[in-house]
Amino acid sequence: MGYKFLNLASSSLRVSGFRTATRHYATTHDADIVVIGSGPGGYVAAIKAAQLGMKVVSVEKDPSLGGTCLNVGCIPSKALLHNSHLYHMAKHDFKHRGINVSDISFDFKAMMDYKANAVKGLTGGIAMLFQKNKVNLVRGVGSIVAPNKVEVKGEQGVETVNTKNILIATGSEVTPFPGVTFDEEQIITSTGALSLSAVPKKMLVIGAGVIGLELGSVYQRLGADVTAIEFLTSIGGVGIDGEVGKTLQKILTKQGMKFKLGTKVLGVKKEGSTVKVDVEAAKGGSKETLECDVVLISIGRRPYTKDLGLDKVGIALDDRGRVPVNNKFQTTVPGIYAIGDVIHGPMLAHKAEDEGIVCVEGIKGLPVHFNYDAIPSVIYTSPEVGWVGKSEEDLKKEGKAYKVGKFPFLANSRAKTNGETDGFVKVLSDKSTDVILGTHIIGPGAGELVNEAVLAQEYGAAAEDVARVCHAHPTCAEALREANLAAYAGKPINF
Ligand SMILES: Cc1cc2nc3c(=O)[nH]c(=O)nc-3n(C[C@H](O)[C@H](O)[C@H](O)COP(=O)(O)OP(=O)(O)OC[C@H]3O[C@@H](n4cnc5c(N)ncnc54)[C@H](O)[C@@H]3O)c2cc1C
Repeated sequence: MGYKFLNLASSSLRVSGFRTATRHYATTHDADIVVIGSGPGGYVAAIKAAQLGMKVVSVEKDPSLGGTCLNVGCIPSKALLHNSHLYHMAKHDFKHRGINVSDISFDFKAMMDYKANAVKGLTGGIAMLFQKNKVNLVRGVGSIVAPNKVEVKGEQGVETVNTKNILIATGSEVTPFPGVTFDEEQIITSTGALSLSAVPKKMLVIGAGVIGLELGSVYQRLGADVTAIEFLTSIGGVGIDGEVGKTLQKILTKQGMKFKLGTKVLGVKKEGSTVKVDVEAAKGGSKETLECDVVLISIGRRPYTKDLGLDKVGIALDDRGRVPVNNKFQTTVPGIYAIGDVIHGPMLAHKAEDEGIVCVEGIKGLPVHFNYDAIPSVIYTSPEVGWVGKSEEDLKKEGKAYKVGKFPFLANSRAKTNGETDGFVKVLSDKSTDVILGTHIIGPGAGELVNEAVLAQEYGAAAEDVARVCHAHPTCAEALREANLAAYAGKPINF
């Protein structure tokens, strides 16, 4: 891997928390590209660059590879969501299906261990992929000291990488709440919520966006009394279609989650074992103090550029702390690129991954194309919510003439058979050309179904195109087909 054996020091190579081998480190490396950060953006870009024939160094400061997504984001949250859902089904739903199980209970520690194993397996998988693709992993905090030089401060001292290109993939961190100190036990971020030692009796969730709803669902299913507090008057975060957001709120309310919308949080303080949260109506009004054992503050994330040394090479951040890039992911300094949560666009793992791939393809002289209108969003509640493209609110704002095709899961044979009939598919298409502008799904498997809608939208399909494609029966995907049929022909068949 092009080590220069200048200054050998004996040390151990740690891969994903495991001591795997004793190696001799060198302090200087040569590379075609240094990728700083091994989250979904960085590790995918590193592997792709290696596959394109580049000599790659990946720099990671944390002991475990995979960034936010694998360690404290997508993966652990989905492990807890899946298993809490199974428990909830067993407790409240199996009986109606003729399945008798007695003494249903859960072992919270075992559930957390299961989550930790899922994380360990996947982060270890990245280390193996790096080895397989000959990506040279250098552990430590990466700092750009010149346009072609990165210094990495690790346990073994400082290693230097001389490189032709640098890719910043340093991701994001939790947005702090003014005046609040997180103890990660009672006043927690999403990271703390993924590692609590017990299920709280009463939990307040500040922020009813995707992360708040998902983690709130986990604890509500496990028996916590959960109230989500939201400044806006709707739930689900940026981009969700208003009708879908309202439907989700109704369904989650039926499941037992409570909502305080249009509510501003004034302060959070601990008094003994109780956490007190002062709130008032967002448009002004009388104040109220809510009490809980645990408050989860999930008001968003912000780009992470600490210790990167951007000022040394003259890269200025934008007004939201992001690294500005052009449509080839180039920063203002030639040879330095950025992708993922640290730049503009939605903070999503698949967006970071795809940017990583096209960015390194661009460095190799291949065409760079990225369609921000075809990035799916998913909320992994039960039922799931998935969408891509424009919402009705977006189209109204743009003054665009559109058609709506809707199909309820109540009329879909598979959903009916499975007893999962909450929700619908809504397709929005251009009134004159029939081209699909947005697809919004709330219902069983929405997170999987939305990928078909993304494919259609990426290829510029019309609603008729999807409606004329044969779909397997009985499947929930037939609801997507019927919604497209409703958009283009005015009427579905089965409703
Ligand atoms: C609770 C939660 C649930 C989520 N669920 C989903 C989901 O279901 N689906 C989805 O698409 N997204 C989800 N996300 C968002 C997703 O995790 C992020 O969008 C994604 O991880 C961003 O990838 P990234 O590669 O840009 O950055 P990150 O994953 O944040 O990785 C950045 C990496 O860079 C490293 N780093 C930073 N600075 C340096 C430095 N100077 N030197 C060396 N290393 C450095 C960090 O240690 C980190 O490993 C979730 C997030 C959270 C918090």
